[in-house]
Amino acid sequence: MRRQTNLHGATGSALSPRAPESLNALVMHDGGVNAWLDDPENGTPIQRPAPALADGNLSYQIPGKPVPLGFYSTGTANFRYWTAVEALRRGADFWQARIPGLMWHMGPKLTVVLDDGVDLNAYYDRTALKFFHGSSAEGVVYSGESPDILCHEMGHAILDALKPELWNVGSQEVAAFHESFGDMSAILSALQLPVMRAAVIAETDGHLNRSSRLSRLAEQLGQAIRESYPDAVEPDCLRNASNRFMYQSPVLLPSSGPASLLTSEPHSFSRVFTGAFLDAIAGMLLALSGNRSAPTDDDLLQASEHMGDILVAGVHSASVVANFYSQVAGGMVQAAGQLNPAFLRPLKAAFVKRGILSLHSATSVETLANAARSMVGDGGGSESDARASTDIAIDGKLYGLGDVAVIVEAPSQPRRFAASSVVSEFAPAPVPSSESAARGFVEQLFRQGRVDLGGAVDEVDRIDPLASLKTHRLVKAEGALRLERILCDCGLHHD
Ligand SMILES: [Zn+2]
Repeated sequence: MRRQTNLHGATGSALSPRAPESLNALVMHDGGVNAWLDDPENGTPIQRPAPALADGNLSYQIPGKPVPLGFYSTGTANFRYWTAVEALRRGADFWQARIPGLMWHMGPKLTVVLDDGVDLNAYYDRTALKFFHGSSAEGVVYSGESPDILCHEMGHAILDALKPELWNVGSQEVAAFHESFGDMSAILSALQLPVMRAAVIAETDGHLNRSSRLSRLAEQLGQAIRESYPDAVEPDCLRNASNRFMYQSPVLLPSSGPASLLTSEPHSFSRVFTGAFLDAIAGMLLALSGNRSAPTDDDLLQASEHMGDILVAGVHSASVVANFYSQVAGGMVQAAGQLNPAFLRPLKAAFVKRGILSLHSATSVETLANAARSMVGDGGGSESDARASTDIAIDGKLYGLGDVAVIVEAPSQPRRFAASSVVSEFAPAPVPSSESAARGFVEQLFRQGRVDLGGAVDEVDRIDPLASLKTHRLVKAEGALRLERILCDCGLHHD
């Protein structure tokens, strides 16, 4: 049986109904549920108020018979149902508070399939969030039981609602940002739990960017994947936001590699931005606490809420271009300055340290943003009404498709300001053209067998792995083949 550990290190067996240790300093007698704090691996059970599946613009629906409210034992399907609803509701409530009126891409209700069969995976495909189960040495692992994974997938749906023009763009950096946003959503959603705030302050001694149960995402699924593919994930989780990866232009990185290396594969490259995000929120916490050695629970709650606002503003203002990271980072720095000048320094420091912003970009971003705004008016010139991409045609023969053009959306929105990344101490990174960024993205998809060829290639000519999960498809359009995204997967599929 999997060990359960409470915050004081005591261990116990599975909970009995209605009698878990309450770690939430909130003793509930009726109308609550048992749930995991962040992940089932060495999981901490908590009690939470009854979450509402349907609530406001960001409602969910779960096909099948509803599970009556109750305090269920871990290891049961009923427990998994309510821990999923609790995490999904908490995450959506966090984003709804930041973006009132936001609605899922498909309408007011997002379908959630809690167990769609055997796979160590989870994904968002614009119709639903889908979770699966698989076996490990410790027993059956359900991806829909981990609040980390639930709030990551929900984050894909939030970003798709916030900036739908990112969905089809052929850009490694945009795809990686989608993954990073999922992980940032998991971290910010976790910080809405008082127990998590207390735990992470204690574990990191108030230095939030240290490795902790907050930074380590999806420990249980990481463990399950590690059994079969030891180098595919981090040593102690799926991905760790506490890392030291530096920005490099993704078009120059290998397309895949072990977890210890940075590659252009979206989940791998996402770690650069997520690492900067964790550094930034750690700095904001110090600023809010007046550099006290022990920040308070309220300091951390405030830091998480402000960071959510800053992130939304950065995403909203960012032009969809090949160097998307620096555009979001520039927008976040600008938003931080408007929210609280004390946040400017930690935001700039985090993005400059990672090379996401060059020193010059960081020091001039407010001036450049103001100048850009005065030129184009208050709209900023890069809101959703602007077209995010330009279609480019790539020779299909490059991918064994014969004499046909592949149409790809290249990231080519006008830049709001000239924020740039850096790859050396002396020179900003050259920004790849939208065409070379799109070509690099497509090349990577084909190399990894991620494109559903839809019969466009004879079986004997196919080079994609037999069992690879397809994230994109080719759709016939006016004598050519258009590349479209099918889904954002959670990166657990390693065939
Ligand atoms: Zn994902």
